Amino acid sequence: MRIMVTNDDGIHAPGILALAAALGELGTVTVVAPDRERSAAGHSLTLHSPLRVFELRKGFFAVDGTPTDCVNMGIHSLLPERPDLVVSGINHGPNLGDDVTYSGTVAAAMEANLMGIPAIAVSLATYERHGHFDAAAGVALRIARQVLANGLPADTFINVNIPDCPAEEMRPTLVTRQGKRSFAGTIIDKTDPRGRKYYWIGSEEPAFNDDEGTDIHALNRRHVSITPLHLDMTNYDSMKVLSQWSL
Ligand code: MN
Repeated sequence: MRIMVTNDDGIHAPGILALAAALGELGTVTVVAPDRERSAAGHSLTLHSPLRVFELRKGFFAVDGTPTDCVNMGIHSLLPERPDLVVSGINHGPNLGDDVTYSGTVAAAMEANLMGIPAIAVSLATYERHGHFDAAAGVALRIARQVLANGLPADTFINVNIPDCPAEEMRPTLVTRQGKRSFAGTIIDKTDPRGRKYYWIGSEEPAFNDDEGTDIHALNRRHVSITPLHLDMTNYDSMKVLSQWSL
């Protein structure tokens, strides 16, 4: 098996190293990841400047672009063959509810899905420096094995969130739906040393609705959460409503 690993925390992040090491059990792993942290890069592609690639050691490519750039570069240029699986992570912090739209981790899996390759995004629910990345890598390996054995349903990639605890304290894996964030956005405005104003987005801990059946609800109770995602964002019910308008 040929597996490509990427992330949005950068190629030196502990999560990607733990993930690449664990997935080595399944086949040849190639890492193609941003050269620095690109969290919240979303599904962005670099089109207005060239990209540089540095092979840090065999099979470890750092790209000065976004996670989506990395998946593109990996599949179309750096890997000798199309990978059988793309795994993105292990992100430092959860990717839950509406936040999946900001996530570079999830977007990398999305990009692989667009290219017809089975893809998994994996996140560890902690912002602590020393999270249980090895335990999370074990979970990622188990899920990757299932994806390779069974394939994924058409038009599907999966978003995995893992509680930050030793493997034996995790509760069974639940298949969940994407939850809702309750937005309490904050903008910090301050003045720089030269007397000019600057602004910084978001400082509060994200607040999520603890609705049953969601990724958030599962993770709050130390379950591993797997949410199948797809790219069709059409709101089918609203199509009927808009069809009534005088357009
Ligand atoms: Mn990140």
